[in-house]
Amino acid sequence: MNSEKAGKLDWNSLPGRLVVLSGASGAGKSTLIDRVIERVGPKVRRSISATTRAPREGEVPGRDYFFVSPQEFEALRDDLLESAEVHGATYGTPAEPVRKALAEGACVVLVIDVQGGFQVRSKVPNALLVFVQAPSLEVLEQRLRARGADDDATIARRLTNARYEIEAARGYDVQLVNDDLESCVDALAATLAPDPCGDGIDHD
Ligand code: 5GP
Repeated sequence: MNSEKAGKLDWNSLPGRLVVLSGASGAGKSTLIDRVIERVGPKVRRSISATTRAPREGEVPGRDYFFVSPQEFEALRDDLLESAEVHGATYGTPAEPVRKALAEGACVVLVIDVQGGFQVRSKVPNALLVFVQAPSLEVLEQRLRARGADDDATIARRLTNARYEIEAARGYDVQLVNDDLESCVDALAATLAPDPCGDGIDHD
């Protein structure tokens, strides 16, 4: 599917539900969505993004991200639902797997930044935008340091970006605060279900 086709496709007519999950790095988005999927099963699926960033220790290509070179990313551009520069690397969501999962009635979650979130909103007006806040910027910094994955300059850049994202998140539909993992998993699961995540039942 090229970008023209992706733009023209009536995303809102597909039976599944598209959800954007954003939040500062270290706010716990990945852990949260993995826990919700463990709980509710494959009717909720996580989209796998392409990125030009290098894999971190323990990350698996094709499971965490499709790790590509800048040239490979440019070749993919026409097939992306959204894309953005974040922390000096380029990230994007391949459109076709998302379309296919929505056509199958799944609830598809994109774990992406706010720039991408607003691009999705303009293409798919009925997408649900969910923002996960860390309890405070201090806690966020502690979590980034504890993760041990980034040097000081990278952590500083991520914190600057976090301030911008928190401001931008005012335009999101749902705000969650990840101060306690279990209650945040409950809140996210309740936000995603009961809902029409592919079971054909109107729970309202
Ligand atoms: P990380 O490098 O820590 O995995 O992700 C950095 C940031 O990029 C996070 O805010 C993450 O949500 C965002 N991100 C990951 N994949 C995508 C994507 O496909 N599109 C956009 N716009 N942001 C993404």
